[in-house]
Amino acid sequence: MARITACRVRAYCVLYASFEAQKSAEDRNMHFVVCIKQVPDTTNVRIDPKTNTLMREGVASIVNPFDVYAIEEGIRLKEKHGGKVTVITMGPPQADAALREAISMGADAGILISDRAFAGSDTWATSYTLSMAIRKLGDATLIICGKQASDGDTAQVGPGIATHLDLPQITYVRKVEQLEANRIVAERLLETGYEVIESALPCLLTVVKEINLPRLPSLKGKMAAKKAQIPVWTAKDLGADPLQIGLDGSPTKVVKIFTPPVRGGGEMIGGEPEQAVARLVELLKDTVVAAAS
Ligand SMILES: Cc1cc2nc3c(=O)[nH]c(=O)nc-3n(C[C@H](O)[C@H](O)[C@H](O)COP(=O)(O)OP(=O)(O)OC[C@H]3O[C@@H](n4cnc5c(N)ncnc54)[C@H](O)[C@@H]3O)c2cc1C
Repeated sequence: MARITACRVRAYCVLYASFEAQKSAEDRNMHFVVCIKQVPDTTNVRIDPKTNTLMREGVASIVNPFDVYAIEEGIRLKEKHGGKVTVITMGPPQADAALREAISMGADAGILISDRAFAGSDTWATSYTLSMAIRKLGDATLIICGKQASDGDTAQVGPGIATHLDLPQITYVRKVEQLEANRIVAERLLETGYEVIESALPCLLTVVKEINLPRLPSLKGKMAAKKAQIPVWTAKDLGADPLQIGLDGSPTKVVKIFTPPVRGGGEMIGGEPEQAVARLVELLKDTVVAAAS
């Protein structure tokens, strides 16, 4: 009798576990946290030769283009599965405008992470700071980042946040196939095709532009963005370790940034194969001799 009862209990547990795994995303209060960066609206970024930092004067700012796809995906997932979208950015006070733009598209809330102590952060310190903000939020189900920023261009911050939070990550996501209470299945873009990855939640995604077509802000969204209260979280609010933020917390330092000299025109070697090979060998010999002397 005792054995039968034990079996029944076990069968019930297995059934319950599979029911838990199949619970839909709607059964969980989903919190989509989207990380966005405000970047200069130009691909022709100028560098201050003395300080090796970006010259932002006179350059308008926009939301990093890849992050617009991240915002759109967060909003679409909320529309399909319920929950809320919070957008966060680390930057100077004017980065508030980027958060308002996300709210005008349909995000529910924005948080600005801003403090002079964050100045000079490299990708390590940036991802640490953002991870501390996500910890403070406490209930993120899915963190969505763009593939990379159009100015820094390193694509390190998303994976860095996942590492600091010890969460799984799926990078270069082009499609969220399934989202359930405790798991996500996504297509990840490769150079030669794509792969399908399943992960437990919470999880971090970085997204590529193939994932969706971002919407334009609605009038209602613009009104909401105008009225929104955007809290500013400082290093103290995050309880951040002073040794892991800003310049002091940045293990990498920019020693020099410069525009590489324009290369001279190359020489096209034409003619019959034998003549072309002879000319090529001659040129290679000259190059080796020049390099050795
Ligand atoms: C070696 C090195 C040294 C640096 N030193 C300095 C310095 O001294 N002073 C300085 O001002 N800058 C410095 N930077 C630049 C600064 O680290 C980056 O701007 C910042 O860390 C973001 O990196 P990224 O632009 O490459 O973003 P990526 O990693 O390419 O961005 C990927 C994604 O992460 C998210 N993300 C990135 N940044 C933010 C953010 N701020 N808020 C919210 N989400 C974000 C977005 O979703 C974005 O799409 C340095 C960079 C490097 C590589």
